[in-house]
Amino acid sequence: MAVKQPISKATIWSWLEEVIDPEIPVLNVVEMGIVRDVVMDEDPIVIKITPTYSGCPAMNAIEMEIHKKMREKGVHSFKVVTDFKESWTTDWMTEEAKQKLKEYGIAPPEKTEEEGDFLTGLKNSQKIVPCPHCDSLETKLQSEFGSTACKSQYYCHGCEQPFEHFKCI
Ligand SMILES: [Zn+2]
Repeated sequence: MAVKQPISKATIWSWLEEVIDPEIPVLNVVEMGIVRDVVMDEDPIVIKITPTYSGCPAMNAIEMEIHKKMREKGVHSFKVVTDFKESWTTDWMTEEAKQKLKEYGIAPPEKTEEEGDFLTGLKNSQKIVPCPHCDSLETKLQSEFGSTACKSQYYCHGCEQPFEHFKCI
């Protein structure tokens, strides 16, 4: 007879850390701040996720990846719930995640409270985004949309290379 092994919450979190963001292969969904909570008091286990922005096409893929991972670990009694109570913000990303993003060649988002857009009247597109390759400030926005809608496309005059910037939400 199979004995039901209790799974700890920490174990579930560690499994979720194995789920990679399909758009940014160096980051997992926990570092991204997409997984908000794991609720174990009920059956099934509830995994709460918040989309990085509404309509992000990667979210379906992320949800599927979480399902796949849990089943792979032998957990079948669970559900993934999308939580829209709070809007995802780039502030939920860990500092390590931002560093990895930079190493991957994507300019990480700045903290949203530093924007002060209402004071300066500057739009996001006019902000100076340092180049992730050479830290040059001589960068120019080329397109509001990069390879995905969550990123914008920049060009660096310092190292003459294009790069993507993860938009601040
Ligand atoms: Zn550069």
